[in-house]
Amino acid sequence: MLKVLKFGGTSVGTLERIQNVANIIKDIRDEGHDVIAVVSAMSGETNKLIEYAESFSKTPVPNEIDMLLSSGERVTSALLSIALNEQGYKTTSMSGREAGIVTDNAHTRARIESIDTNNMKNAIADGKIIVVAGFQGVTEDTQRVSTLGRGGSDLTAVAIAGAIHADVCEIYTDVDGIYTTDPRIEPKAKKLDKISYDEMLELASLGAKVLQNRSVEMAKKLNVNLVSRSSFTPEVEGTLITKEENIMEKPVVSGIALDKNQVRVGMYGVTDRPGMAAGIFTSLANANINVDMIVQTVAVDGKTSLDFTIPTTDWEICKTVMNTFKDDIEKVDYNEKICKVSIVGVGMKSHTGVASKAFSALASENINIRIISTSEIKVSMIIEEKYAELAVRALHEAYNLDK
Ligand code: ADP
Ligand code: ASP
Ligand code: MG
Repeated sequence: MLKVLKFGGTSVGTLERIQNVANIIKDIRDEGHDVIAVVSAMSGETNKLIEYAESFSKTPVPNEIDMLLSSGERVTSALLSIALNEQGYKTTSMSGREAGIVTDNAHTRARIESIDTNNMKNAIADGKIIVVAGFQGVTEDTQRVSTLGRGGSDLTAVAIAGAIHADVCEIYTDVDGIYTTDPRIEPKAKKLDKISYDEMLELASLGAKVLQNRSVEMAKKLNVNLVSRSSFTPEVEGTLITKEENIMEKPVVSGIALDKNQVRVGMYGVTDRPGMAAGIFTSLANANINVDMIVQTVAVDGKTSLDFTIPTTDWEICKTVMNTFKDDIEKVDYNEKICKVSIVGVGMKSHTGVASKAFSALASENINIRIISTSEIKVSMIIEEKYAELAVRALHEAYNLDK
């Protein structure tokens, strides 16, 4: 079999942890499999580098940020390759460019456009274990190093697995699979054997960072056999992320996600005329801002108000965009002391009363809901940040997820 194995920041967080990863790979190789390992930077490294850059500039040049951040993954890929080599295995490390990963020009959040697998195929034919530096590629136009957004090593692994038709893509992290909610918030959370791509995509998009959302989207598109498991307990089987039809039992609610990195933007006294919302949200989209949960209230005296949420990281750019609408918006305010809690489940499609149960669970804890948004398989609620963990636990209990 050809296996793509990805090791996250904590899995390669120290030299001992890197040696541990080398041992995991060694065992898999000894079973006769071909291996492409994808590694993250050592945990905390990417944040540290961002802080360094921000000590010089609040808005550092994106392509320099990519030059800086991509170094973290290069360090671990070389170290892991050296460790495996020392144990007598033929190995080669590869940067994103060497692995053939070509992206668009959107520095710090680049999209993969193509992967030329020739280099990797040749190395495998040579009997080598490949260790790819995750989270990065090269821009097609300018041939600059680019990065794929936070948590992007997951995407590197899935994209490679899809492009090279690997048999499986295993994402090794510090928990042994996908749980009904973050086990660090609710110790009663239960591990799932399987979860559908769509549910995982919602959980990841709504804050469960155990898998990066774009990696799940790509796994679904390319039909990659994706497994989440732990490098701390590699003997434990993880969670399979798969097609909905491969899952027999479909619970109404499969999981709860929490996202604290959200800002609520409130616009008041907005001119009520056709094209106003189109203008505002097109400008936000053009600035690459990820807008969610839009609410518009009924207009009074030709003025309306609009609320929406954005990731905290888009806050600065959002302010700049809002400034260009000064003539049509009387006041804009921002509240970052909020969070988004969401319930997710494919079973919701065929059940009624799912949302009302969530509202009652929060009400019984006296938690006020500011904004609600729903889709076929999720209900999201904006609440005050101080109630985040309490809300997760209350919802977990309301849907009997610990049973
Ligand atoms: P890595 O550094 O390996 O990429 P991350 O820190 O990105 O790992 O993701 C793993 C973390 O995701 C876990 O430590 C856990 O706290 C968190 N997490 C959030 N939601 C879930 C969930 N539903 N199931 C498992 N882990 C979750
Ligand atoms: N090192 C990058 C980050 O911290 C990418 C990754 O770990 O997946 O976001
Ligand atoms: Mg991650």
